Amino acid sequence: MTQLLEIFDPKAPPRAIGIDLGTTNSLVAYVKNERPVAIEDCDGRALLPSAVHYGDRGDVVVGVDALRRAAESPRETIVSVKRFMGRGADDPETKRMGPYAFVSPKEGEANVVRFAVRDKVVTPVEVSAEILRALERLAQDELRSVGGAVITVPAYFDDGQRQATKDAGRLAGLEVLRLLNEPTAAALAYGLEKKQNGRFAVYDLGGGTFDVTILVLDDGVFQVKSTGGDSALGGDDMDRALAEEIFHLAKSDVAKATPSEVRVVLDAAREVKHGLTTASEVRFDNPLGRDPAMLDVTRARFDELVRPLLERTGRACKRALRDAGVAAEELDGVILVGGSTRVPAVRAYVKELFGREPLGDIDPDKVVALGAAVQANILAGQGSADEVLLLDVIPLSLGIEVGGGVVDRILPRNTTIPAAARAAYTTQEDEQTGFEIHVVQGERELAADCRSLAKFTLRGIPKMSAGMARLEVTFRVDADGLLGVHAREERTGIEQTVTVKPSYGLDDETVEQMLLDAIDHGEEDLAARRLAEARVEGHRVVGSTRKSLDAEPALLVAGEREAIEAAVAALEASMAGDDPRKIQLRIEELDEASKAFAERRMNHAIAAAIEGQRLSVVEKTVEHAKGIEAAHGAPLPAAPPSSR
Ligand code: ADP
Ligand code: MG
Repeated sequence: MTQLLEIFDPKAPPRAIGIDLGTTNSLVAYVKNERPVAIEDCDGRALLPSAVHYGDRGDVVVGVDALRRAAESPRETIVSVKRFMGRGADDPETKRMGPYAFVSPKEGEANVVRFAVRDKVVTPVEVSAEILRALERLAQDELRSVGGAVITVPAYFDDGQRQATKDAGRLAGLEVLRLLNEPTAAALAYGLEKKQNGRFAVYDLGGGTFDVTILVLDDGVFQVKSTGGDSALGGDDMDRALAEEIFHLAKSDVAKATPSEVRVVLDAAREVKHGLTTASEVRFDNPLGRDPAMLDVTRARFDELVRPLLERTGRACKRALRDAGVAAEELDGVILVGGSTRVPAVRAYVKELFGREPLGDIDPDKVVALGAAVQANILAGQGSADEVLLLDVIPLSLGIEVGGGVVDRILPRNTTIPAAARAAYTTQEDEQTGFEIHVVQGERELAADCRSLAKFTLRGIPKMSAGMARLEVTFRVDADGLLGVHAREERTGIEQTVTVKPSYGLDDETVEQMLLDAIDHGEEDLAARRLAEARVEGHRVVGSTRKSLDAEPALLVAGEREAIEAAVAALEASMAGDDPRKIQLRIEELDEASKAFAERRMNHAIAAAIEGQRLSVVEKTVEHAKGIEAAHGAPLPAAPPSSR
């Protein structure tokens, strides 16, 4: 045995590190001689499989060794723990994500996922902390002294998921300098911030997830403009497609295979896949150990097998571009991230999709950690560049429920945060003394189909006629993704504020599902919305007409009351039906019948007195409801969101 003499400067300041805490693999990097490098273990591996095995003697194993034990003790070996971060224990999705023994929280315990392993219970934060500790040990071995860490997270991670990641870092004893979005980290690794301005797409195909992000670089500041993807799409799907092919080539029935046969074939498939990245054909031993003894797969065949997966990524990319309002031709660069983008078919597909050669010469499975190291170096004050600021977006629209159960969107999805918007509303009923404010999130037209975030009532408003109260609702989402809702009745100054976490527990899958639902139900939602709105409108018009008939009978001319009442009756009959166009038509007819009377009232002194108060509301209404309410002047909602 030889002793290696290492020379290091004991006074050297601790080095900051960058960590990619991935679903499949994690790694740590730092800046060495002004260049970011990944830290390797003693076997020369930089990628640490994100697997944690809890042994029977209280020992904890992380990485390749843990992964090896996953087959025989699946419940004690947690893989892809990232999927559980920040999720509620009651989330119906969680239980479908692994063969684990889940434990429900006890009375008074936080609503987080818990796994029973051996005789203890661990949370995703604790499992992630084990991975972070293993990475920190690697860094310690290399650097002697570790300063702070930058940990990356997917751009779509919500506040709860980010908080959980930060907690894991702290639990591992790391000083978390900042969480950094994975796509932004990749852009930093390529030094794109030096361009000052530009638009970039980051295409990240990992082991089990696909993420696409549109980044806008504005005066050296990166902003996430939109995110998209599929949380159940990645290299594992390629492995499965290839495994089926292997069963087929081996003339074996997948349906009859034992779990261990499936496992060896999947392992073989992954190896063959990796081989096909460099070779155009791979010949290998039949993993089932039967005849035919040798099998072979060509790259051309593999490309065919993965084509449908690639097309799914393409659809997500197109949607992300649309959400960001950026055309593919307007991009200044496309970055490849994730181990699966090594596959030549993926590279070719991305090139075809975006019409340009993507940036891919930095190791795609290391690029995120390398960028995090660059950022860590800057934050630790050792870099030369100015600090790069980062902004996020709201994953799903935020709004409130208005008359008829319809949603009025206040902050649309993909709005960059921090953000604030205001909308104004009025009362629907006479002598209404409270406003029920129901805050919802989602893309559907009706509140019942969206996620309910908070409900509160603004009380104590003095009795006023319908349309006289003016309620201003302000939504403010801060940089951490927390939503503050402020409601104020303008005439009385009565106000109330509530804080909600708009996206806690809203993972990408839920977001995806909610978006799909909105698309699927688009037409029927719209019809339901139109009907609800028409009924609300009809109800209001009937009320205000009756009130004016009662208030100023002296202004009526002969036969006018009868004509107006007939029109009211016709409108009420149409409201019992379900055709919004009929209701609209009857409203117009009632309008026509009462027009002269309304004009006379308008000229009347009383009408003149209130006109000044109503005017501003009426004008705003025109914009929002395209004139329907303009004729009546007591709108709901009254004004479009302003100050975006
Ligand atoms: P994650 O971000 O999900 O943690 P990675 O970026 O490390 O994952 O990607 C892991 C995936 O990359 C695995 O499915 C793995 O099989 C795949 N992969 C790694 N190297 C190659 C290669 N040379 N050819 C094809 N696929 C690869
Ligand atoms: Mg990754």
